Amino acid sequence: MQKILAYAAQDALSPLTPFSYSQRELATDDVAIQILFCGVCHSDLHQARDEWGGSLYPMVPGHEIVGVVTEVGSQVTTYRIGDKVGVGCMVDSCQHCASCEEDLEQYCENGTVLTYNSVHKDGKTPAFGGYATGIVVKESFVLRMPENLPLDKAAPLLCAGITTYSPLKKWGIGPNQRVGVVGIGGLGHMGIKIAKALGAEVVALTSSPQKEEEARRLGADHVVVTRDPANLTPWKNKLDFVLDTVSATHDINPLLQLLRRDGAMVLVGLPTEPLRVAAMDLVIPRRELAGSLIGGIKETQEMLDFCGQHGIVSDIEQIPIQNINEAYERMLRQDVKYRFVIDMHSLHL
Ligand code: NAP
Ligand code: ZN
Repeated sequence: MQKILAYAAQDALSPLTPFSYSQRELATDDVAIQILFCGVCHSDLHQARDEWGGSLYPMVPGHEIVGVVTEVGSQVTTYRIGDKVGVGCMVDSCQHCASCEEDLEQYCENGTVLTYNSVHKDGKTPAFGGYATGIVVKESFVLRMPENLPLDKAAPLLCAGITTYSPLKKWGIGPNQRVGVVGIGGLGHMGIKIAKALGAEVVALTSSPQKEEEARRLGADHVVVTRDPANLTPWKNKLDFVLDTVSATHDINPLLQLLRRDGAMVLVGLPTEPLRVAAMDLVIPRRELAGSLIGGIKETQEMLDFCGQHGIVSDIEQIPIQNINEAYERMLRQDVKYRFVIDMHSLHL
């Protein structure tokens, strides 16, 4: 059995350290992948440090996985050895509940198996993620990477890309609509690019004044620095949609006030503390507040193909796996442009 080299969190307080385990035996519908790159999502940090509670250790984080197929099970028809593939935030679901039937496996009513910090359907095997040299995944949860996109810059599409694409599509965002993207980090910078590609006018809302220029370069038509509340005043009742990607507790009421009547604000950021909502800001004038979790496998492939057609990739900083703990600290300081992507080569040596 092949040995997988990885980095793992052993508990909520210690830094990630080297770890190894045996790759699981291939089932007939499994695909074995050599991991080349893995994006670093803020969810990795939240879970490694048990900020949402219930974390399972040891934990090998990572759910923005790209690599090449090295082996396929006897019944696999979609992928061949050498194909460039991706794996996002989930690796299994029941495949027969109402959500799975509607291609929304992320809301599987019998429990989605997440790529890490999760247990496989056998009830005992821990799911280890992408900060590793390899992974074995069921064919139906493997994605095909667009040929024209560089794998390192495309890795963040597997989570940051689909998490922003899915709500923009569900709420029908397109031309003649004005979209606010709050928090210009991994998710937010993809939100700007995808909303622009869908034809919307984009307002970037950032708490970091130094990101003003950058947000424009990423495609934002307007940038609002939220630190000074006066900057928000001209935008009140002016937006059709607000996508909130902020990872920390923050006041969402001034952001709700930016929506016009019947406008919607969708939360994708997952701060640990509950948010406070002023009923008045929702009731008048009939605004909506909702949430959204990643996207189904079918929609993830659709998003990858869309990004391939539009040449959309992430702005990344490549790091060796040995720098992962420092990368977490920089992410907390809002100091990443705009996604760390781990180059797995040093683990393969
Ligand atoms: P990230 O790269 O760290 O970006 C988060 C951004 O939030 C920061 O760049 C910053 O943007 C803003 N921010 C951070 N602290 C803030 C504060 N105290 N006040 C105001 N703004 C602050 O994180 P990410 O990887 O994009 O993930 C963002 C969140 O989405 C995380 O909570 C993550 O767990 C969650 N997530 C959810 C899903 C889903 O399916 N719903 C999927 C993936 C991730 P500015 O500097 O521009 O203000
Ligand atoms: Zn993620």
